[in-house]
Amino acid sequence: MRIDCKHVWQHISAYIDGEVDAALRAEIDQHLETCEICSAVLDSTRNVVVLVADNRVFELPAGFGRRLHDRLEKELETAGP
Ligand SMILES: [Zn+2]
Repeated sequence: MRIDCKHVWQHISAYIDGEVDAALRAEIDQHLETCEICSAVLDSTRNVVVLVADNRVFELPAGFGRRLHDRLEKELETAGP
């Protein structure tokens, strides 16, 4: 099974939180190896999550995840085929 960028974006919050199953994780890993766009999205997402974790503000990741999700939803709407 091949997944596309939109699949990765939809699952990227769960992927970072380790909440995707092994099969999906493997697909995303494989996609990230070949896709610069999704690698950049993952990097920037991780940077913010790490920053939040370092500040020990544990309430923020959920809100951040929601904002990221909203933003990606918009991207998905405008970038649709
Ligand atoms: Zn991609």
